[in-house]
Amino acid sequence: MKGKYKGSSILVVGGGISGLIAGQELSALGAQVLLVEKDHFIGGRGARLACKATEHCLKCNKCLVEDTLRLVNEEKPFTIKTLTTVEVLKKHDGGFQALLSTLNPVIDPEKCTNCGECLSACPFKREGAFIVAPSPNMHPFYAIEPKLCRCSETRPCQDACPQGAIDFQKGSSRWTYNCDGIVLASGFKPYDPSNEARYGVGRFRNIITAVDLEQMLRDELAVEPTAGGDRIRVAFVQCVGSRNPRIQRDYCSRVCCGYALRMAFRLLHRQPDLDITFFYMDIQNFGKNFEKYYREAREKIRLVRGLPGDFYGLESGAVRLSLYDAEKGATMVEDFDLVVLSVGIGPNSEEILNVSGSLEIGKNEMGFLTQEGSGQGVVIAGSAQGPMDVSESISSAMAAALQLAQHLGLTKE
Ligand code: SF4
Ligand code: SF4
Repeated sequence: MKGKYKGSSILVVGGGISGLIAGQELSALGAQVLLVEKDHFIGGRGARLACKATEHCLKCNKCLVEDTLRLVNEEKPFTIKTLTTVEVLKKHDGGFQALLSTLNPVIDPEKCTNCGECLSACPFKREGAFIVAPSPNMHPFYAIEPKLCRCSETRPCQDACPQGAIDFQKGSSRWTYNCDGIVLASGFKPYDPSNEARYGVGRFRNIITAVDLEQMLRDELAVEPTAGGDRIRVAFVQCVGSRNPRIQRDYCSRVCCGYALRMAFRLLHRQPDLDITFFYMDIQNFGKNFEKYYREAREKIRLVRGLPGDFYGLESGAVRLSLYDAEKGATMVEDFDLVVLSVGIGPNSEEILNVSGSLEIGKNEMGFLTQEGSGQGVVIAGSAQGPMDVSESISSAMAAALQLAQHLGLTKE
């Protein structure tokens, strides 16, 4: 049952799973919630995950993200503003004030029916002018990135739209929002391995990141063989951008082992003849049923303790990895058709820290957000405070919402 509105207004910063759950919880308790998201779409990184189910569910919890998106889209329990960035967050009149900047979307959500005529008509869709939502549970399902549109006078998408929903002249606005509480749910950033040239990302087409593999799985693309070899060989390389003091990331990202093993199971389910090798330092416990999944991994996947030092792209498209085997005292060299780098979870805290000077928000030794004051009406939800998987992010968001509700005295009717 919807709670009684007691006049409390809440700003949620970030439209990923944590922000959406916190928004839902607080609006169910009667608060008036405004959620702001700087991207074209809500859903965050969770919406960009692929389902990892094999013949059984592997509890990757992608479906929880989709359920949440569906509910938010259908029931509209609170106000959402996309393409909105926070310029300033400050204390104000016993509560808080946010200075916000919104780029008005080219496609009007009130008029758009998601027919897709505009996408078909766009001559520059491959150059990024059109963005398709990462989830079917979004409206509008399409967005236009005006900076990447190359059409000058005539706009084929505008002419094609039967609803007159496309308008390039809407511009932007700056506005203030006063509120009684703030949820910071700004999420994380995956490590960018192009920072380290040795991985060859961008130079060798068959070295990809786990984020790219999620997209491949969502698009249902198969792993293709390169020339030579009678089996298709896939390598997962763990701890890329994690547990490495040389790049100031001396911490375990916790969730990438679990996600990578699930992706390996999913690949094997779709292409049972793949040979998969998993290079790792230590496999981290990945939640409930860990023993069962680990047993299954030992049966189906070749687990190699140690991380390759060198990555070379061969003319055939295959990737050559070399790894020093301390037990054998020799260097092992092997070729793979596809190498997947399990990139770590990094902080996304700088923007919030830059705009929230007076709010007693700090960062921990890993760079994730921490609350320095307490009971002040600002809470942090989900992976903004450290590496978390989907279910941990949901629990964290519920706890953050409850903490804020208690601070504001919100209760169900
Ligand atoms: Fe929406 Fe118009 Fe595009 Fe159809 S053509 S998806 S109504 S903007
Ligand atoms: Fe490395 Fe696994 Fe920790 Fe990720 S979860 S940093 S891959 S050990």
